[in-house]
Amino acid sequence: MQIVIGTNNSNKSNEIITILESNFSNLFEFLTLSDFPQKIEVEETANSFAENAELKARGIYNQLHIPVITDDSGLEVDILNGQPGIYSARYAGENKNDSDNRKKLIKELSRFGCDSFPAQFQCVICYFDGKNLIKGYGICRGKIILEERGKNGFGYDPLFIPDGYDKTFAELEPETKNRISHRSKALLDFVYNFNNFLNREN
Ligand code: IMP
Repeated sequence: MQIVIGTNNSNKSNEIITILESNFSNLFEFLTLSDFPQKIEVEETANSFAENAELKARGIYNQLHIPVITDDSGLEVDILNGQPGIYSARYAGENKNDSDNRKKLIKELSRFGCDSFPAQFQCVICYFDGKNLIKGYGICRGKIILEERGKNGFGYDPLFIPDGYDKTFAELEPETKNRISHRSKALLDFVYNFNNFLNREN
């Protein structure tokens, strides 16, 4: 069976496919949006990660008619009351990039006069096949620092130190990030729910 990983962010699809392949090695063929010639985009107009993940899964399924897995995720900083949250990808404005978003975050936090700020990443994974809707949820707690460290990963990784570590996500090996991240926790929760669904179906 084919499953499309419904994100235009290749960092996300790589992380998702790595983790899913280790759980369902030969059961599924994973495709990405770049395997299709048409431009597939769904506007994220909802107010939560879960609703946005579902919106994207339904929207992509309606265009491709192939089972789809989406991810909606973002960074929530405690002292900013959970900002940037669902706006993480466009924190510095539309058409801005990850580096602009990190600069804006550093600027916003600099006014508080601390070195680090408790924060968390959230991720919701959503599967939709035209009939069945299955989700998985994950949170990774840590802190934001005000200088960029490390070259791996994407987004806010150079600013985020997960609890229990002294390196940022961008300094850790991808294998380590993939073991402890919000995305890996959401995928493990999803794999558990998806296995229950497959067992019920068969
Ligand atoms: P969306 O889910 O496409 O709306 O965007 C999620 C945004 O949250 C990304 O563009 C990043 O800015 C941020 N984000 C989500 N997951 C991660 C991660 O694992 N590392 C760093 N930043 C992330």
